[in-house]
Amino acid sequence: MNRVLDYIDSHWQEALADVMRLCRQPSISAQGVGLEETAELLAQMMAEYGVPCQILPSKGYPVVYGELRGDSPTTILFYNHYDVQPPEPVELWSSPPFEPTVSEAKLRGRGVSDNKGNIVARLLAIKAFSQVRGRPPVSVKFLIEGEEEIGSLNLPAFVAQNRQLLAADACIWEGGEVNWKGQPLITLGLKGILYVELEARGAQRDVHSSMATIVPNPAWRLVWALASLKDWEENILIPGFYDEVQAPTEQEIEAVQAMPSEEEELKQGLGLEHFVKGVSGFELKYRHLFQPTCNICGIAAGYTGAGSKTVLPCQAKAKLDFRLVPKQRSEDILNKLRQHLDSHGFSDITIEFTEAEDPARTPLSSPFVAIVCDAAREVYGTEPVIVPTSAGTGPIASFTETLGLPTAHAGVEYPDSRAHAPDENIRLEDFIKGIKYIAAILERCSKLKA
Ligand SMILES: [Zn+2]
Repeated sequence: MNRVLDYIDSHWQEALADVMRLCRQPSISAQGVGLEETAELLAQMMAEYGVPCQILPSKGYPVVYGELRGDSPTTILFYNHYDVQPPEPVELWSSPPFEPTVSEAKLRGRGVSDNKGNIVARLLAIKAFSQVRGRPPVSVKFLIEGEEEIGSLNLPAFVAQNRQLLAADACIWEGGEVNWKGQPLITLGLKGILYVELEARGAQRDVHSSMATIVPNPAWRLVWALASLKDWEENILIPGFYDEVQAPTEQEIEAVQAMPSEEEELKQGLGLEHFVKGVSGFELKYRHLFQPTCNICGIAAGYTGAGSKTVLPCQAKAKLDFRLVPKQRSEDILNKLRQHLDSHGFSDITIEFTEAEDPARTPLSSPFVAIVCDAAREVYGTEPVIVPTSAGTGPIASFTETLGLPTAHAGVEYPDSRAHAPDENIRLEDFIKGIKYIAAILERCSKLKA
């Protein structure tokens, strides 16, 4: 193993140059910019790293799929994405977003952390084994999609249709990070999401507000409908909303208790006096990680400009997101939302479905979790932090549930990586350690099936 780590020490700069090469190629899925070009560049790069690959069509942007046989019967699947978030607002970047730059021991540029730096880190870890030993210790597969930043709408179907191709023993998620203390976070799950737009309509056109005596106002209809969804105690009132919520296991609760608290920093950073329901300590972490949400992302109706305009609008819209927890299903919640609105007399309010992903968590008792923890201790020289689930969302159910794979985060980011924001960056030391971490995980995974 030392020779593999030595190889990484003497070759990481070449990998860094390849991250820059990959990041110079824009791949903005939200704007349809450069996706095919990036898939081709990536496929070429993977071949250069000794991972034979192909570009597979999906219903949306293509999937880059690669695989390489290893020395043991174990197979590890890497999930990554080659698309990036739009760079705007470009004027807030210290250097042009698609001209990656190294300064102060950091690499800056759109995609360096999310997710191109992670892709190349994984490739170098595998190449290190191939160069030193001829083969990696386990077989590896790469599924690299181009639609993660726009909700991975076509990924669940792609995964479901390619179960055989993607069969593996465990999955390493697209990225991962260390905290400010340098402890790697081993995140084991994600929440799901249901994103919808509600719309109420009234007259054919806006009318004079004196007509409010007799003309129905869709803004009120929408406000009443929204008010029916949640009470002042933050309980979500959609019948059956909580039915499928699975209580966390004892191990998950213990892990959350052990997670360092960032409560005060968060409160100060946000300028808040207290959190929802006044929660703090364990209750705050529990609520944040294990509870589903019903959130209003935006409301629009009528006149909101300067001065007064006495108008009765003809239309009102609200965007809502529900963050879901295992075993809630986005489709089921969508049905329950429709039934709730109908039974409260809001059949006129339409629901436009925008986006959905299902939640999933890997049990802490999975042998793969122990392997990742051991690898983290070895490479980072410190105790990792086990995070049973993030409060965020991704297409994890395709891997954890559809393919049945224990799934853990491992990557090259740190708390100031600024994913999705101007000056996205990674620290070079995290890049090097991230490569070694993947190598250490793969080495240990050879015993996963023993
Ligand atoms: Zn992202």
